[in-house]
Amino acid sequence: MSHRIAVIPGDGIGKEVMPEGLRALEAAAARFGIDLSLEHFGFASCDYYVEHGKMLPDDWFVQLKDADAIFYGAVGWPETVPDHVSLWGSLLQFRRRFDQYVNLRPCKLLPGIKSPLADRRPGDIDFYVVRENTEGEYSSVGGKMFEGTDREVVIQETVMTRTGVDRVLKYAYELARSRPRKKLTSATKSNGIAITMPWWDERVAAMSESYPEVSVDKFHIDILTANFVMHPDWFDVVVASNLFGDILSDLGPACTGTIGVAPSANINPEGTFPSLFEPVHGSAPDIYGKGIANPIGQIWSAAMMLEHLGHPEAGQAIVDAFEAVLAEGDKAVLTPDVGGHGTTETLGCAIAERIAG
Ligand code: ATP
Ligand code: MG
Repeated sequence: MSHRIAVIPGDGIGKEVMPEGLRALEAAAARFGIDLSLEHFGFASCDYYVEHGKMLPDDWFVQLKDADAIFYGAVGWPETVPDHVSLWGSLLQFRRRFDQYVNLRPCKLLPGIKSPLADRRPGDIDFYVVRENTEGEYSSVGGKMFEGTDREVVIQETVMTRTGVDRVLKYAYELARSRPRKKLTSATKSNGIAITMPWWDERVAAMSESYPEVSVDKFHIDILTANFVMHPDWFDVVVASNLFGDILSDLGPACTGTIGVAPSANINPEGTFPSLFEPVHGSAPDIYGKGIANPIGQIWSAAMMLEHLGHPEAGQAIVDAFEAVLAEGDKAVLTPDVGGHGTTETLGCAIAERIAG
């Protein structure tokens, strides 16, 4: 069976790291006998916007909905399109319409990369952040009263539903159960947010009965962020609401060194719609055109995609390959952000060669 992959490079260094992501993907597919059919799309980029006055064609949903996965680069080119327009017009449409309600980010310190946290080594930081991706604090429910007067009132509601929360918790519990430590941490703030967060805690506790082998703890978000920095080794799988997850899923990868290596997945676990895989970093206008962007975020996203498509051994081969190349530490191969003087291509090629075996 062939997997249909929609390939969307997007903007800036998205266009530079995507070829290396594809090189790794194709090397893994060849080695493990996986049949991929790649379809390339130029929309969901600011170049497309400049030509068409919008980020997406009207029939984008029909064009993408039957793909098995979307492999995305990066979006945003503030010189031509304001960031909120490019983001809302592309990625956030995909997340919503394709019901990608899990945002998954591994936070793993890789060999050869220095953590900004003192004395941390590979093995000390190895956890996942699971973020609720469709509701919660990022609802558009609310309004303004007495605008422009001294009595101005501004309200924005948090909307949590049992279906919406339980499905992301289930994903997190399943993930925790599949890992050796079987540990789940919930991000809460039930001491200050008195309605939604105590209820979130109740849902976490209710579901724990179905997962007796998973040990569960919870931290208020303020001390949890402190513990990400002070005790990153405590964590295995961390589950959080949309806002808290947004914060944690930037902080987590930041604790593991360069932003250039971090991957992410926006997942529709039921497979009703395609899931989307993309590096955490943006389009990085400051380094675009120099050929020095680190391609590992894109390559690791390819590994997550293969795992999602049912090929964990191929995903693992990709991870093993970039870990080996990083551990080797050949400065002529590595990009400047990880201490080398190589290029996007030298690093991408070295990884693809490893994958091929
Ligand atoms: P976003 O578009 O997600 O809001 P941003 O535009 O604020 O993010 P990025 O584009 O991710 O930020 O860039 C932040 C910094 O990290 C920049 O200095 C950029 O050069 C650097 N950076 C980002 N990605 C990479 C990469 N793959 N390799 C090396 N450096 C990177
Ligand atoms: Mg940006």
